[in-house]
Amino acid sequence: MSNPYKNAVKQLETVGKILKLNQKTLEKLKYPKNLFKADLKVKMDTGKFKTFKAFRSQHNDDRGPFKGGIRFHPNVTEDEVKALSTWMTWKCSVVGIPYGGSKGGVICDPKKLSPKELERLSREYMKFLSPHIGPWVDVPAPDVNTNPQIMAWMLDEYIKIQEKKIKLQKWGNTGVNPLATITGKPLELGGSQGRTEATGQGGVFILEQLAKKLNLKPEKTTIAIQGYGNVGFWFAKLAYQLGFRIVAVSDSQGGIYVPTGLNPDLTLDCKQKTGTVMKCACKDKVCNMKYGQTITNDQILELKVDVLVPSALENVITKDNAKKIKAKVIIEMANGPVTPEADEILHQKKIINIPDILANAGGVTVSYFEWVQNLQGYYWDKQEVNSKLKTIMVKAFDEFWGKYKTLKTTPRMATYALAVERVVRAIKIKG
Ligand code: NAD
Repeated sequence: MSNPYKNAVKQLETVGKILKLNQKTLEKLKYPKNLFKADLKVKMDTGKFKTFKAFRSQHNDDRGPFKGGIRFHPNVTEDEVKALSTWMTWKCSVVGIPYGGSKGGVICDPKKLSPKELERLSREYMKFLSPHIGPWVDVPAPDVNTNPQIMAWMLDEYIKIQEKKIKLQKWGNTGVNPLATITGKPLELGGSQGRTEATGQGGVFILEQLAKKLNLKPEKTTIAIQGYGNVGFWFAKLAYQLGFRIVAVSDSQGGIYVPTGLNPDLTLDCKQKTGTVMKCACKDKVCNMKYGQTITNDQILELKVDVLVPSALENVITKDNAKKIKAKVIIEMANGPVTPEADEILHQKKIINIPDILANAGGVTVSYFEWVQNLQGYYWDKQEVNSKLKTIMVKAFDEFWGKYKTLKTTPRMATYALAVERVVRAIKIKG
């Protein structure tokens, strides 16, 4: 398995050559500014305590406070968290929102925890994290296997910690703004309209722009999506609403291929009933396996489709399978799904690969809107959120496309050039 942090460093070194960065700047950007680690001791339902390894990597804050999600997954590693925090710096920069990058993670399998155990783990994680975060310091959010409920528990714990620190005053009198300290919160606790679907929505705005550039007609454009969680589902649903044909989806167990196109809402209903999309070849109004066939997670990547959308985990397209990819376009909705070696192969095959830091930036952009709304105490409706998101995503796409055409490099390097240049400019202006 390739190491995501090594990939992140390799990508930075390549873009460093394009931008002719000096060694000092390059060294600064290779390493996180802060890396916090802890062993969380969590009481299990049996009464015994179990230890979980936890991390928070704060990569860079030259353009604004650190910003990044928290991941609960058995495969979390220190290097993964470092890589993800680096990519967050570039992501915030590429869409021009005033943040740097961070990321947190806990090595655990949330599927094996009861709701009470998950709550205690979330609260313990916040005890570890609270000295290192704040609206102008670092603003966490959900990531894989964390959600608004987990953010609500973490927010509640953060408020308790602040009140204890400032001798049991109510947080309103303490000068801190806990609401603007965490994003991805439930609506009832200061969350933003449109946050749930934001990442998928942002990706679909990119799809629309790309379709215009490549002259792809929605009804003739086939799409395969690996991963049917928050991001994969919303991408499927919103692209389907625009008339694109979703022909394959998968989850951790495997997938389905429905050449005539499937209905994303019915597929989700069926997945919720049966536990996996593998049983759900859903055409409009009907779910029936006669419309499609089951496929593996390797096969979904190699289908002959127009657009491939990896929306699950990193490193799924590597030098071993890149040659077999038949899609014209890849839109990286997951973080780090394509390794640098695979990127080169895809480029040689003339496959346009829209990198994660642009494609999936809709989530952090609406997290930014949530933070802005929390700071000003004035809330927008979904239409306003989506229209502001569209403005940002379309501008970022146009800037990317301009760089891609002038630099004549891979889409990833064009996007990185745009992002890294902005961070370097912020560093230089500070003197
Ligand atoms: P999620 O937990 O809601 O969904 C993940 C999906 O991937 C599930 O359907 C799961 O079954 C599937 N999956 C897991 N392992 C798999 C495997 N080995 N093969 C195929 N499918 C597998 O997570 P999410 O929020 O949808 O995030 C998905 C990806 O998008 C992650 O890489 C995440 O970092 C990235 N991302 C998420 C957001 C966000 O706002 N949620 C924002 C930016 C990037």
